[in-house]
Amino acid sequence: MSTESPVFAVISQGCAANFGDGERIARALTAMHPNCQVVFRLPGAQDAAGCASFSQDTCGVQDAPDAIYLNVCTVKGNAGALKLLRTAFEMYPDVPLFITGCAPKDFREEAAKVTDKVVFTSLEKIFAAAIESMDSIGPKGLQNDRSNVLRESPFVGIVNIEEGCLDACAFCSTHLVKGRLRSYAPEGIVEQVKCLVADGCTEIQLTGQDCACYGFDIGTNLAALTQNILAHVPGNYKMRIGMGNPRHVCGYADALLECFQDNRIYKFIHIPVQSGSDNVLKAMNRRHTAEDFRQLAEEFNTRFPLSTLSTDLIVGYPGETENDFRETLRLLEETRPTVCNITRFVARPGTAAARMEADAGLRIPDSVKHERSAILAEAFQKIARENNALWVGKTCDVVVEKPGHRAGTSIARNEAYRPVALVGDIPAGTKLQVRITEAEPFALISDRSFDV
Ligand code: SF4
Repeated sequence: MSTESPVFAVISQGCAANFGDGERIARALTAMHPNCQVVFRLPGAQDAAGCASFSQDTCGVQDAPDAIYLNVCTVKGNAGALKLLRTAFEMYPDVPLFITGCAPKDFREEAAKVTDKVVFTSLEKIFAAAIESMDSIGPKGLQNDRSNVLRESPFVGIVNIEEGCLDACAFCSTHLVKGRLRSYAPEGIVEQVKCLVADGCTEIQLTGQDCACYGFDIGTNLAALTQNILAHVPGNYKMRIGMGNPRHVCGYADALLECFQDNRIYKFIHIPVQSGSDNVLKAMNRRHTAEDFRQLAEEFNTRFPLSTLSTDLIVGYPGETENDFRETLRLLEETRPTVCNITRFVARPGTAAARMEADAGLRIPDSVKHERSAILAEAFQKIARENNALWVGKTCDVVVEKPGHRAGTSIARNEAYRPVALVGDIPAGTKLQVRITEAEPFALISDRSFDV
């Protein structure tokens, strides 16, 4: 490693919480190496390994980085993380490779088959090294203001409010890696949001493994934290509240929904329900009922028409009967989410669900899993299109997020965190007022735009 100004590539996958961890790794590296450069893409990589070609994302870095950190996600299996590892190793076989993120035992075993040079580390270990190095570089390292705001998007501030969770869902390998809930102090979170807003962030994402149980270990909760931020951080920004297990939201739903009255909160809520059948929820050890979710969804949809309800559904869970599946379909049709992550069950080694699936009697054939996910996806797309159609003809404020999939287009977000496709290469962070002219299942479209 060229000690003067090393280049680090930190590549993250998965949920906002993991991208937040990636940014914290970047900040820790910068605190340890004040003259370093951090890029969030693998320089030169061109394929779908979550990498861009030589572009501003790699800050013009063309040469091999001095070290690569792969901050992986394996929540839906190891394939994506292994592909990223192979890409990085094939491109830079002599560059030190570190892996962090959700890397359970089975993934580590497969990764070691790609290369035995990889070093498994963690956010905590990198932080500990950073704190140790600060003793040698003194407060100056701490004062490195670049370390406070280093992030993937200049306009989006990801704030991890907690690590771990309070549950042990039978299908989940994340809790095997991340462990029990550890909430960060509200004062520190408010301070971080203040810094990010002062540094130009127009969007703040509060995130964690399960934001809904935030603070239960320190005598507070997500609603109190959100109110605290709104009271102490003025400014023209919007906050997206991270995903949460419905069983925890139920305990303070009114207080949380009260927060959504504030214009600075995106009218977007992500509550993974996983199944509409109480039998399946019980088998998943999801300690809530379908009715708990139904009531939360109804309250949110009624109080905030045109808002965005987001959820997750698993089909083909071991032992899922046709009737269980019909209950899931019915719950989807009754609660009408605009975002729904549908997953065909895949056993994660080391989980209780994997042991259940090993019992031939409970395993759902792949053909049935495919049939059920197709039925669910079709029903969901119809609902999403109808929900989005309610915005056609309306004018709304949006903030441009990134370039669109097609050249000459851009993607923005409106107050319900709906993606809005716009005509033109409009810089990220630009605020516009646009009229919605069309609706698709996964996006709103505006063919007109003008500066506010
Ligand atoms: S709440 Fe359940 S699904 Fe979510 S991280 Fe915890 S154990 Fe996994």
